[in-house]
Amino acid sequence: PLNLLADARLLKTDAFIDGRWRDAPQRFAVHDPATGHELARVANLDAGDAEAAIQAAHRAWPAWRDTTVKQRHAVLLRWFQLLMDNQDDLARLITAEQGKPLTEARGEVAYGASFVEWYAEQAKRINGETLPPYDNGRRLLVLRQPIGVCAAITPWNFPLAMITRKVAPALAAGCTVVLKPAEQTPLVALAVAALAERAGVPAGVLNLVTADSANSIAIGKRLCASDVVRHISFTGSTEVGRLLMAQSAPTVKKLALELGGNAPFIVFDDADIDAAVEGAIASKFRNAGQTCVCANRIYVQAPVYERFLDKFTARVSALKAGNGFAPDSTQGPLIEPAALDKVEAHVADALARGARLLTGGERLAGQFYAPTVLADATADMLCAREETFGPLAPVFRFETEQQAIELANATEFGLAAYFYSTGLGRCFRVAEALEYGMVGVNAGVIATEHVPFGGVKQSGLGREGSALGIEEYLEVKYVCMGGM
Ligand code: ADP
Repeated sequence: PLNLLADARLLKTDAFIDGRWRDAPQRFAVHDPATGHELARVANLDAGDAEAAIQAAHRAWPAWRDTTVKQRHAVLLRWFQLLMDNQDDLARLITAEQGKPLTEARGEVAYGASFVEWYAEQAKRINGETLPPYDNGRRLLVLRQPIGVCAAITPWNFPLAMITRKVAPALAAGCTVVLKPAEQTPLVALAVAALAERAGVPAGVLNLVTADSANSIAIGKRLCASDVVRHISFTGSTEVGRLLMAQSAPTVKKLALELGGNAPFIVFDDADIDAAVEGAIASKFRNAGQTCVCANRIYVQAPVYERFLDKFTARVSALKAGNGFAPDSTQGPLIEPAALDKVEAHVADALARGARLLTGGERLAGQFYAPTVLADATADMLCAREETFGPLAPVFRFETEQQAIELANATEFGLAAYFYSTGLGRCFRVAEALEYGMVGVNAGVIATEHVPFGGVKQSGLGREGSALGIEEYLEVKYVCMGGM
């Protein structure tokens, strides 16, 4: 699939440090999860290379920090335009190494690019404040200044958008970045860096350290231990997030963590059932269930339970698993064999505990799993407690609004939650009672660039996107001017 890129220069396999494309003695293979074919071999950097990238970012920082907001705006806007001009090639890279259907991949490019456009604009709004003096002869100011060298570690499920959501606000704020993309999806990350270079991002301002999973661990340690690195932004599993937080304690680093979820999707008896079915399909089966905001537990109120199940199962049965490059595929492959094992284990556990299989429930040839609906799921099942991260929709029955809220909140996670109801009072009550960072009311897909994305509880720290997203990369400085 990669010989078909319109611009072959976007296929990079070297890392990018200090404005130079860098080989390494070792390389690691990148595979197409739909076919198992090797796509490329990418430079496998180590902790020493990460240190070189940190130093490059450190050297590049003063000049980038001192650019005017208008200069940074112009560079980011050019980068945005280049991302959109190359939407097809970037989408091909995403589908090739990550597997999602090409239309979804094109959507991801537009979504990812929108952060670059948004933060190009936000760069102009990094405002300070003047406060009323507490004493005559004093003037009180608040400055917002870039935090410095930032590290970013990103996952494979949105291999482009998770990069731009971090790098665009960092660059807009006047910070420099060392990025370690996921080992499964380095190709689109390198293409994004190539376009940043073309857009005029100066050498050392954005550095990409590619590595396999073993070296990623060592690189993570180095990024955390460095006192040059002032901030780490991570999107990935809660387990790795906890580790990065512990590793960052000795240097008291600022952290932004976007971790796992266990999203409830509640359908009340006063819901528009057809809309709820469509919302559940969109929320659950996007990227074959491999997003941190995918519905993981579907709760349906008793009076509409069977009606919802009938309609939902019919829709799920019509989904089509297949290679993301095939025009009729709606469900791509899972990212790796271990992901299939997890779905299989969740299904087996649920069936053993009394769930009813309505459709799917089996591996398909290759790295695919049939879109699956289980009815009569219960709180003791693995699929109720852990994020499946695959195309399994377990449906639970509930009786009262209070019960639904308690079930939904009975998890250590708190990223996204969804519910469907036409009752105005209920919509407010339930939205307020859900312990989640994001709530979709009569909406199954809710992310966009100008809203705050992030979780509460063990789903993370901080917010990405929106005006809040750039605050991560700014330090507040209070200046008291006496003798005035
Ligand atoms: P996922 O389940 O999405 O693969 P991970 O948390 O394992 O989630 O991976 C997300 C990112 O974190 C990837 O870039 C991966 O290489 C990186 N990563 C995994 N383990 C570590 C670690 N110990 N230290 C630093 N980065 C890590």
